[in-house]
Amino acid sequence: MIIILRIGHRYERDERLSTHCGLVARAFGARRIIFSGEHDAKLMESIGGVAERWGGPFDVHYEGQWKKSLLAHKKKGFTVVHLTMYGTPVQKAMRIIRKRKKLLVVVGSEKVPPEIYQLADFNVSVTSQPHSEVAALAVFLHEYHKGKELSKRFRGAKLRIVPQEKGKKVIETRSRKRA
Ligand code: SAM
Repeated sequence: MIIILRIGHRYERDERLSTHCGLVARAFGARRIIFSGEHDAKLMESIGGVAERWGGPFDVHYEGQWKKSLLAHKKKGFTVVHLTMYGTPVQKAMRIIRKRKKLLVVVGSEKVPPEIYQLADFNVSVTSQPHSEVAALAVFLHEYHKGKELSKRFRGAKLRIVPQEKGKKVIETRSRKRA
């Protein structure tokens, strides 16, 4: 069970990157994304809508206080992994992290509260270069799953892509007809 905690979301300014964090979390095998920072109903509806059409299981939550959410997950036995360019290289940390089955993966936006570095069980970098929370999340999840998430099937999907060498093919599945 992997849960993503996206902290410091800023209404409108972060809409695109936060949406992409949600889409990447779902597509790469996380079970949930929790947004913290400014409440953004449109953002949550948009990601929820993708999960509804393209399948899951995946859900979207909001928690105003990131620390409360982080500590609550720790209490429930989750290992907290904070993605930061200052951390231990993912290729080194993953050997231990992969043994943990309940992960809370924290990604920041513009500014990350310094306390996170102490609260996290692991501070992990995906290269020691500045880039993006979306890229860091995708690479981290890909490494964790050893690439198995690439062929993940999504339950309850109403739409499914039939991969084509050229062009687009999308089919409506039976679960849509039943709905
Ligand atoms: N400058 C901000 C700070 O240090 O607080 C971080 C800004 S960065 C655009 C936003 C987020 O992307 C970070 O909080 C981190 O989660 C993620 N990130 C960026 N580069 C990363 C890297 N090389 N490895 C892991 N995560 C990274």
